[in-house]
Amino acid sequence: MRIDTAALRLTLGYLLLAGLWILLSDHLLTALGLSVAHQERLQSLKGLFFVTLTAALLYLVLRRHAQQYRRARLQLAGNEERLRLALDATHDGLWDWDVSQRRVFFSEGYAALLGLTPQALGNTREDWAERLHPEDRERALQALGADANADHYENIYRLRHADGSYRWIHSRGRLLRDEMNQPQRFLGIASDITQQRANDDSLRQAAAVFDATQEGVLVTDPQQRIVHVNPAFSRITGYSAEEILGQHPNLLKSGRHDTAFYQSLWHALQNRGAWSGEVWNRRKSGEIYPQWQCIRAIHDEQGRVSHYVAVFSDITALKRSQRELDYLAHHDPLSNLPNRLLFTERIAHALERSPGEQLRGAVLLIDLDHFKHINESLGHNVGDLLLKEVGERLQQDVPNGSTLARLGGDEFGLLCENCAEAPQAAELAQRLLRCLESPFRLDGHELYIGASIGISLFPEDADSVEQVLRNADSALFKAKSSGREGYAFYVQELTDYARQRVELASSLRHALDNHELRVFYQPLHDLQDGSQVGMEALVRWQHPQRGLVPPAEFIPIAEDNGMIGAIDSWVLEQACRQMVRWNAQGSSLRFVAVNISSRLFSRGELDLKVAQVLADTGLKPSQLELEVTESAVMEDPAAAQLLLTRLRALGVRLAIDDFGTGYSSLARLKRLPVDKLKLDQSFVRGLPNDPEDAAIARAVIALGHSLDLKILAEGIEQIEQADFLRDLGCDYGQGYHFGRPQPVSGAASASGSVGKSPDSQDNTRG
Ligand code: C2E
Ligand code: MG
Ligand code: MG
Repeated sequence: MRIDTAALRLTLGYLLLAGLWILLSDHLLTALGLSVAHQERLQSLKGLFFVTLTAALLYLVLRRHAQQYRRARLQLAGNEERLRLALDATHDGLWDWDVSQRRVFFSEGYAALLGLTPQALGNTREDWAERLHPEDRERALQALGADANADHYENIYRLRHADGSYRWIHSRGRLLRDEMNQPQRFLGIASDITQQRANDDSLRQAAAVFDATQEGVLVTDPQQRIVHVNPAFSRITGYSAEEILGQHPNLLKSGRHDTAFYQSLWHALQNRGAWSGEVWNRRKSGEIYPQWQCIRAIHDEQGRVSHYVAVFSDITALKRSQRELDYLAHHDPLSNLPNRLLFTERIAHALERSPGEQLRGAVLLIDLDHFKHINESLGHNVGDLLLKEVGERLQQDVPNGSTLARLGGDEFGLLCENCAEAPQAAELAQRLLRCLESPFRLDGHELYIGASIGISLFPEDADSVEQVLRNADSALFKAKSSGREGYAFYVQELTDYARQRVELASSLRHALDNHELRVFYQPLHDLQDGSQVGMEALVRWQHPQRGLVPPAEFIPIAEDNGMIGAIDSWVLEQACRQMVRWNAQGSSLRFVAVNISSRLFSRGELDLKVAQVLADTGLKPSQLELEVTESAVMEDPAAAQLLLTRLRALGVRLAIDDFGTGYSSLARLKRLPVDKLKLDQSFVRGLPNDPEDAAIARAVIALGHSLDLKILAEGIEQIEQADFLRDLGCDYGQGYHFGRPQPVSGAASASGSVGKSPDSQDNTRG
């Protein structure tokens, strides 16, 4: 039992005082020498006085003690309340382990950390240890044991919550010892730090991201002093953290953006708290580069801006590949010229500007003639080389500021934004055609390539890209069908013409079956003696609605849709039969001439067909003359030579039609097994007055004769032309002067005696 020294001192004091009182007061009474009765009375009084005094003293002591005790109790209760409130406020729990009793007190707050009541939690260390996470149990118990010698204890472990999850608990405590320095109580508080740990984790992750990200990160304070940068920042800008911290981001400016740019950036930051966009900045090396940047304002609890965070990526490479992609998307890889997409964009742009800027321009579509044959005969490599060189040549001749594009295949487009008048465009077209005239030397070949050009003017002809292109296309079509290697403008009628052509093409398919084709015959005369020597078979189409359609309108269609073979065979057969009939009627005609399409001519089996028709009709081969155009022969002279030789072997006569319009080489011509050249009517038209036509006629006649060929002049309309040609030594003539093409009844009547047939018979526009 502990002895309270204060109480002992008080008691001993009292004993001393009381003892002294008894001894001294008795002596005093004796010394007074009073009577015994007096003495006895005083003795009782003295006793009473002592009792009263000590009672009063006792009362005072007890009262003081009671007051102190009450005060202490109140203080204790106050402290307890404060502790409880403090623990409540921090959501901490209290634990108190009575070492001797082996009991643990867990406060309500402690139990609440685990979603329990103190009763449910229990009051033994085993109850508590049972809730430890298996991974933490050993460590937590060890720490408790080890710390039995130390006064302070701190540990972190997981305890199982009532909901089954584990909570991270941070426990701190202190060991209290008794006078003998023996552990008496272990007391402490515990806090749930699960959330804090999660926050710490995400902070750690954020820090890792900050360090590892490829994006540069820059943090400034509200005064825009740089307070933080990440490694990527240094990698991108070239500035180390030490160099840049404390600096103003102005240091990074490239000078590429004006004040308005930064004003709008700050405006967005102030109003929306964020901005993102492309910024050009300067690296430490001085290099200016583009970055994609997102800036955010960070606010503190009071809503004041505490930081600005900028995250950016270097988009130099992206921009480069974007540029490359853009280039690829807008250019033709073969010629490196703009492609159709860019071409149409440029036209759209020009059209947009044209009203405001009084801009008048032209779109030219340039299509190479017979490019297909080059591809087919010499291979695609040569074809590609040719396209490249054509592009380069054209490029040299286009005016500055215009766009030359390759639209695909053998088609090029030229947008000339400053082409106010049609003559200017025409001049340009001529220049382009001229620049292609000289031969292309490719891969050991010497190649000639012509082109046709369709021209559409804007804004006169059209005001939309589609329309401009459609018009130019119609014009190109016109240029092609009016003879190769020319140019044509778009006019509205052309569109109708194109539509009609489509209609014609579909009805032409039935023309043969519906017996709508006719063969007209035009007389061929000997110029020297004036006699009729032959007939040329010329096909016509008796269209049920449109009347007589000339071959110039439907032969090209038939060539395109593949019907030409059937038509030409039919004409050949008709003409041969007719010749047999004329023979039977005793006609003096020596031969009938039949035109062969270049399409049919280029196909190999023509000789078989001719042989078959001759056999079927019984016509003598020498009475059949086949006309092949000069351009058909020159498209592929080697193949033509072979085929003409085979035809010649059949015994038929061969004539080269429209001579002078193609580009025959003399060397070739010399070797061709032909009998006759038919001088094209374009050289006859100006006779006898046009000196150039006269010179050509004279030259062709001389050339033909020197090669031992007969010459026939086409398109003789006037007697003067016939006379002139006869004087030049021309052998034969054909033309309205001698007779128009007409159906067989008329032609037949003219077959015996040469007569001029009425013009009205052939009212086709040929
Ligand atoms: P081509 O073989 O050169 O025929 C001569 C053309 O000139 C004919 O036109 C004829 O009517 C025209 N002509 C004749 N004399 C005169 C004249 O004095 N003045 C004018 N201005 N013209 C004259 P057509 O019949 O319209 O034939 C045009 C072309 O169509 C022919 O030119 C020929 O290349 C082709 N063609 C005609 N029939 C056939 C055919 O059955 N098959 C093939 N593949 N082509 C044919
Ligand atoms: Mg002909
Ligand atoms: Mg002709």
